[in-house]
Amino acid sequence: MGSFLNVCIARLPRHRSIVRPGSACPNCGAAIRVSDNLPILSWIVLGARCRACRWRIPWRYPAVEIATASLFLLAYLRNGLTLAGASAAVLSFLLLGLAVMDAETMHLPDAFTLPGIVLGIAWRGVLPAPTLAAHLRNAAASLFWALCAALLIWLIRWFYYLLRHREGMGLGDAKLLAMIAAWLGPALTGLTFVLGACAAAIFGVALLAKRPHGQSRLDGQSRLPFGSFLCAAALYALFAGQPIVAWYAGFFR
Ligand SMILES: [Zn+2]
Repeated sequence: MGSFLNVCIARLPRHRSIVRPGSACPNCGAAIRVSDNLPILSWIVLGARCRACRWRIPWRYPAVEIATASLFLLAYLRNGLTLAGASAAVLSFLLLGLAVMDAETMHLPDAFTLPGIVLGIAWRGVLPAPTLAAHLRNAAASLFWALCAALLIWLIRWFYYLLRHREGMGLGDAKLLAMIAAWLGPALTGLTFVLGACAAAIFGVALLAKRPHGQSRLDGQSRLPFGSFLCAAALYALFAGQPIVAWYAGFFR
């Protein structure tokens, strides 16, 4: 799954098929043999270089493979071989892929976010419920929160445009937060948004502080992959968010 995710990350933002052609070196186009296409191991055996042209294979490839394996293991340890475990693995796969794609290309492809929204609504719909009407209510609630999340980003975008007369967040961010809301519901999505915005703000300030003197003023032109921060925050909310939400809700009892 990690290897497949690498193919998605390399091709989807460039609107290329993830099925054809088979795996090939992005530099020289040489087809990659099956024995050279083993996750993590081949990267080490080949010394991180293409066998044909000696092009240096980015460390992103083994990193995504290790991260995918770790997240799937975490999903299993938390939930066992259950529907909840499978859903955590699927959502992790989507979030990890989107995080890397946004960081590399500033694009959040519809090929991940839109099926992600549909899968989230479907998953909410098949969760154990007493009656068919209850199943449908769960799916409808998931759709409702997805729409609310998209509306939130859309409103922020609109206000930002009124203030600065240029685009801040992309529509990809709206679809991403809609996907997160469809899967995680309103409380964990709120946590995701707050954590993601804080992390992005801290990162942005750190970037400004690192700039050489003379160009330290805010030029407002630098862009951050906000989607990557949202994805990281959503992964945190997925695996560790429940106690934080319960703690926060405790103030209102
Ligand atoms: Zn090559």
